[in-house]
Amino acid sequence: MKISVPKILISRCLGFSWCRYDGEIIQDDFVQRLGNYVEFITVCPEVGIGLGIPRDPILLVQNAGPIEVHQPATGLVVTRELEIFSEKFISCLPLLAGALLKSRSPSCGVGDTKLFAAPTEAADRGLTSGLFAAAVRRLRPELPLETEAGLWDPVRRKTWLEAVFDESPPAELTG
Ligand code: SF4
Repeated sequence: MKISVPKILISRCLGFSWCRYDGEIIQDDFVQRLGNYVEFITVCPEVGIGLGIPRDPILLVQNAGPIEVHQPATGLVVTRELEIFSEKFISCLPLLAGALLKSRSPSCGVGDTKLFAAPTEAADRGLTSGLFAAAVRRLRPELPLETEAGLWDPVRRKTWLEAVFDESPPAELTG
C-alpha cells in the first residue's frame, strides 16, 4: 500500500535557496529533520514577483487605508503584484497538510512582521502578517500555519505537528 506523505508549503529561504533580500539562506535544524517525513512545496513570493536577488528590502506600510508594500530605496510599491502572485500561487496548490513560513518577513511573516506608518523604519506602528501569509490564512483557513521561529516554542511545535500528522507526529520531530 502506498503511504501518502504530507505536503508542506514552505518559504524557500528556509534551507532551499539563497533567495533572501541580502542573498542569504536560513538553515534551520527542525526544517531539515522535518524533510525526512514530508514533501516540501517551496515558494518565494518576492522572487516570484521579479524583485531579484539580492534586492532592496520591502516594508509594510499602513496609514489611513489598507496595508501597502513599499520598497523605500527605489520608491516602488508592489502591493498589487504580491497580492496577484499570492492568490494565483495559492489557488494552484495541491492538497496540503500545513504551511511553514519565514518569520518577520513582509511577505511570509505570520503576525510578527513590522508594520510602519510611513515608508521608513522610523515609523514603527506594530506587528502584522506578511501579504503572502495573510493570503494563505484567507484562502486556506483550515491549514496549520506557523513560522520557523514559532516552532522553536515546544507547545506551538507540538500543536502544529499534531495537526500536520493527524495526531501522530514522528517521535524524532517532537523532541
Ligand atoms: S521570507 Fe519569503 S519572500 Fe522573503 S526570502 Fe524567504 S521565501 Fe522569499
